[in-house]
Amino acid sequence: MDGSASATDAAEIRTRQFERLFEFAPDAIIAVDAQGKIVLVNEETERMLGYLRDELLGQPVELLVPERVQARHAVHRADYVAHPRRRPPGTGMELNARHKDGSEVPVDISLGPLDTDEGVLIVSVLRDVSERREAERRIARQADELIRSNAELEQFAYVASHDLQEPLRMVASYTQLLARRYGNDLDDDAREFIRYAVDGATRMQRLINDLLAYSRVGTQGSPPEPVDGDAVLGRTLDDVREALAESQATVTHDPLPTVRADGDQLGQLFQNLITNAVKFCGDTPPKVHVSAERRDGEWYFFVRDEGIGIDPEYAERIFVIFQRLHTRSEHPGTGIGLAVCKKIVERHGGRIWVESSPGAGSTFVFTIPATDAGQRAA
Ligand code: ADP
Repeated sequence: MDGSASATDAAEIRTRQFERLFEFAPDAIIAVDAQGKIVLVNEETERMLGYLRDELLGQPVELLVPERVQARHAVHRADYVAHPRRRPPGTGMELNARHKDGSEVPVDISLGPLDTDEGVLIVSVLRDVSERREAERRIARQADELIRSNAELEQFAYVASHDLQEPLRMVASYTQLLARRYGNDLDDDAREFIRYAVDGATRMQRLINDLLAYSRVGTQGSPPEPVDGDAVLGRTLDDVREALAESQATVTHDPLPTVRADGDQLGQLFQNLITNAVKFCGDTPPKVHVSAERRDGEWYFFVRDEGIGIDPEYAERIFVIFQRLHTRSEHPGTGIGLAVCKKIVERHGGRIWVESSPGAGSTFVFTIPATDAGQRAA
């Protein structure tokens, strides 16, 4: 007798504990019967949806569903009653509950059946996700805005550099004409000034051409398709054969894989890295080796030289547009080559970096994601 009394007490305590848990849960909890009538709600339901408990009990649950989906909801509910199963939140759908004032509250909903003496109840747990959804919208808006402003900038760089070419050509050719036609009538100072002007205009033409080449990577690339790395490198070496011979350069390579890429841009990448390796060779004839290796889901390409090397302090700076470590008199160039390389590699979903130290040569490494369509047996 004692034992059963304490069992009843214990059951009562447990029931009260569950009631408190239910009442003070941070989510709205709503139980409906098989006919869709609300039989139980907790405090958070009142707060979230603006109703008093008595206004909800006995009402069809569709009262809490936005009008535009009420009919669909009733069908889903009937189907759910016929085949009840647990459904966790986050089905990928954006769901809303209807507030008493007619506004919509963004919610995540989990559903589960609950067997009771009066039959099966369907329990919904609603979490208010207004803030999260607002944050997601904000991020999506910002991403759109970034894509738009990036495209606009690229277009601007392209148009500006393209349109600047023509007037600059005029400045360069007329100053050259001045020098040719009136050079003999001028004194040394005047001739020197004209030389400076021609020099400046020619340099600016080079910069503008480079800027154009840089912006073309993003605006005029072709879609990636499987390309044979050996063939691309072969064509590149043909293109620069004379320059290589002139500097007595030796370029060797291992077999290269087929990758999904814009073939012209991959060629440009090889060309920039190889001509740099030749240009920054130091006092010995340049030796360059190109190889590739598959690691995880990527192909790693290596362009290794035995040249002057780079202080690790500058390893990132050299990939920034117009950044150089040398004066024009030491080594000609505008500092665009590696920025173009970086843009090409990133357009292909890869990364590029340099492994080097002064005097120990440099290895430029870039990656291209390997795809089943674009790989051969490693
Ligand atoms: P540019 O060759 O016109 O200077 P790049 O963007 O191609 O422009 O290179 C930027 C700088 O990176 C170079 O000025 C040089 O200092 C350094 N660099 C590039 N390649 C090498 C290399 N293979 N060895 C040593 N230094 C290099």
